[in-house]
Amino acid sequence: MSIAGTAASADFTKICPLVSRRTNRKYAGEETRLVRVKHVEFGAGRPVIIGGPCSVESVEQTLELAHTAKASGADMLRGGAYKPRTSPHDFQGLGLEGLEILREASLQTGLPIVTEVMDPRLVEQVGAYADMLQIGSRNMQNYPLLTEVGRFGKPVLLKRGMAASLCEWLGAAEYIAKEGNFDIVLCERGIKAYPSGEYSRFILDLNVIPALQKETFLPVIVDPSHATGVADMVEPASRSALESGCHGLIIEIASEKVGAARPKCDAAQAISPTALGRIVEFARNRAGQKMESKACAV
Ligand code: PEP
Ligand code: MN
Repeated sequence: MSIAGTAASADFTKICPLVSRRTNRKYAGEETRLVRVKHVEFGAGRPVIIGGPCSVESVEQTLELAHTAKASGADMLRGGAYKPRTSPHDFQGLGLEGLEILREASLQTGLPIVTEVMDPRLVEQVGAYADMLQIGSRNMQNYPLLTEVGRFGKPVLLKRGMAASLCEWLGAAEYIAKEGNFDIVLCERGIKAYPSGEYSRFILDLNVIPALQKETFLPVIVDPSHATGVADMVEPASRSALESGCHGLIIEIASEKVGAARPKCDAAQAISPTALGRIVEFARNRAGQKMESKACAV
């Protein structure tokens, strides 16, 4: 029997036997698989906070935000060099030049990089610079791309398709795992459902976090930036996501310097490095409290 509105268990065992707890007995218990990206661990008790710009726009912008993200306590740097834009007339990212800039930012700060790859033909190129390859929402069901990143072998951040069911999402993870790569972190980034678009860009589906943890051993993080699309909503959404048990957050930031250029992409949802610092503090305090209450219970 299945819970109302969920896929039948047979669907999971057929579609995603490698990443389902039901069938992959190695992770049958409560355990979450640890996914390591250099020194950063997803799925351990400490939430991983990723911060950075939506897109890499210049050396100055990226280095400034990498250093401020680091100073705010972030564990990793995000930034797109290849951007999936609704209009082909919009800024598409700096491509290879953007990857070079990200590498320099990582060298200067020690923060590992996550960046998006959209094209199976570019997995080698992007993978040479990225510490973690991001599959964007629009490409969650790009099966040749999933197979390529699975073969490439570096850790993958798999964003949820904006209209994807849990089963379809895990089916996408299965494509990566089928190539022998289990270093997959899932990312809830909001779904299209009534009334998305009215007061927020998407609807942040926090219900999916415990549902995923029941179904799979893969860690899951939340992207409150794209889920809300509104800077003021990012802090409350982040706190709620952490309370729901996610293993980390990926957040877009922009410079708070007076006179700084407005981001070319997703400006309305970018928060300041100061606000990112408050989220990191909340995450660290909460993780500390959880550790303390565990210790008391022993
Ligand atoms: C992004 O992270 O910059 C992005 C485009 O996200 P999504 O694929 O979730 O829309
Ligand atoms: Mn963005």
